[in-house]
Amino acid sequence: MSQEQSAATPEYEVAIIGAGIAGLYLLHRLRGLGCRVLVLEAGTDVGGTWYWNRYPGARFDSESWSYGYSFSPELLDEWQWSEHFAAQPETLRYLQHVARKFDLYRDIRFETRVAAAHYDDARGDWLVRTEDGGAVRAAILVTAIGGLTEPYVPNIPGREDFQGESWHTARWPHRPVDFSDKRVAVIGTGATAVQLITEISKNIGHLTVFQRTANYCKPLRNAPITAAEQADIRARYPEIFALCRQSFGAFIHDFDPRSAFDLDDAERRALYERLWAEPGFGFWLGGFRDLLTDRAANETAAAFVREKIRERVKDPAVAALLTPTDHAFGTKRVPLESGYYEAFNRDNVRLIDLRATPIERITATGLRTTDAEFDFDAIIFATGFDAATGAHRRIDIRGEGGQSLAEKWAAAPRTYLGMQSVGFPNMFIVGGGPQNAASFCNVPRCLEQNVEWVSDAIAYMRERGYRSIAATPEAEEAWVRHVADTVAGTLFPETESWFMGANVPGKVRVFQLYGGGLRLFREKCDEVAANGYSGFVFR
Ligand code: NAP
Repeated sequence: MSQEQSAATPEYEVAIIGAGIAGLYLLHRLRGLGCRVLVLEAGTDVGGTWYWNRYPGARFDSESWSYGYSFSPELLDEWQWSEHFAAQPETLRYLQHVARKFDLYRDIRFETRVAAAHYDDARGDWLVRTEDGGAVRAAILVTAIGGLTEPYVPNIPGREDFQGESWHTARWPHRPVDFSDKRVAVIGTGATAVQLITEISKNIGHLTVFQRTANYCKPLRNAPITAAEQADIRARYPEIFALCRQSFGAFIHDFDPRSAFDLDDAERRALYERLWAEPGFGFWLGGFRDLLTDRAANETAAAFVREKIRERVKDPAVAALLTPTDHAFGTKRVPLESGYYEAFNRDNVRLIDLRATPIERITATGLRTTDAEFDFDAIIFATGFDAATGAHRRIDIRGEGGQSLAEKWAAAPRTYLGMQSVGFPNMFIVGGGPQNAASFCNVPRCLEQNVEWVSDAIAYMRERGYRSIAATPEAEEAWVRHVADTVAGTLFPETESWFMGANVPGKVRVFQLYGGGLRLFREKCDEVAANGYSGFVFR
């Protein structure tokens, strides 16, 4: 860039990439410090995950009232969720409301996708370039781009040949889609597909679901929030957030301190029935303490779920296909459902087992497996995300000496506290990068922690006149080892999942998230801050 261009480049104290839950709150916090901040957002509006994921059936798997921001009592008092597990349009409206209430829109530049962010060694700041040819400089760069935002579409031969409509679920069109007389394919049966299939099967010409791995799904048990419940929720907000602060995944559910074998078969069964009948994740995240560490303990829960699946699917052959046997319960994200299994009892819904008959190619009119040729009007990819690192890899991020973050992380992601990476000074990651509790969490609870920690660190720098904060290699190495320790002895590494980076071919098989839970993560972060940000060097 010439000197002339450089002089014209607008400068900010902080540039934030992403106007989702984390980016919005960080903008609000940093404004409170008096920082000059700009948010760059690829979408046309705020919302992040809830802006992009508009597929039919998209809704919370967290209790709505445990999901909203907790930082503003006024916001908590004025917002009313309509259901215990709100649907995507309502969540998007909520985030738009937050952005209006705190006057955030004026500092967000929409339809501006960041292409590159390069650290300028000489100036000690970041030059951020956008796909539309624009550029900004910022002393501090924060990526608030989420851990489940970079769609993964498998490289099936012939994809460009298909003449019908085709979308990934996270790139759903911003208009109603009518499938009532259409032949539709859904590839994938993860948490997204489970919601999507349930919803679209209600009014569709014909649906064919292509399944590679069956999942252990648990009934969501959603319901409207009554006026009495609303009053109770408002009165209990401090208690609800205190509960989330203490629990492993920042949900209202937390693990049972007992082993599955502390109870006899009848007692255990009664407990499983009770947890199964409750709304939400209690059956998983309120399970026995050895659920995710002991195969035999896990099998007691897995067998219970298999039984529940078989009870609901009429055709025993289809039931067998929908019943997982190849991985331990809860080592993949448990989808919550509201009629998923019954969808397969409909005459116009068919399940194809991709393990027996893999897809060979996509054709102009549909797709071909090793067994048959299918014609479709639409093919939907519910095939997940290049999780944790994918969104960062997509941007050309270069730190000191031009080092590429994608290259640094190619062998395995390396961070300190999941919020900075050595060689990338003045760059913070909030919300869903690797090795951060936020990727495995009732997300906003962890995002609030991330945002508050980062804005406190920025306040610390401003108070002391520091221009640079950089993690040390020793601190990063210790964090990488700590993260590995959080899953050592668990069943997670045995399962092929996005948690392990196993869903994207070529990606390194290592636990991508943080397995210690929010409570431990917060303790570690607070300790670092209390020790004058130990493990960081200031200049
Ligand atoms: P996912 O869990 O990664 O599921 C992707 C699905 O696509 C899997 O069934 C996978 O099969 C299949 N697939 C991938 N590549 C394939 C290929 N080449 N051929 C055939 N099938 C293929 O993705 P997701 O369902 O989008 O969910 C991702 C995460 O988003 C969830 O775990 C959750 O954290 C979050 N989410 C949250 C909510 C909510 O809170 N309400 C809702 C939806 C999603 P395999 O299992 O065999 O790999």
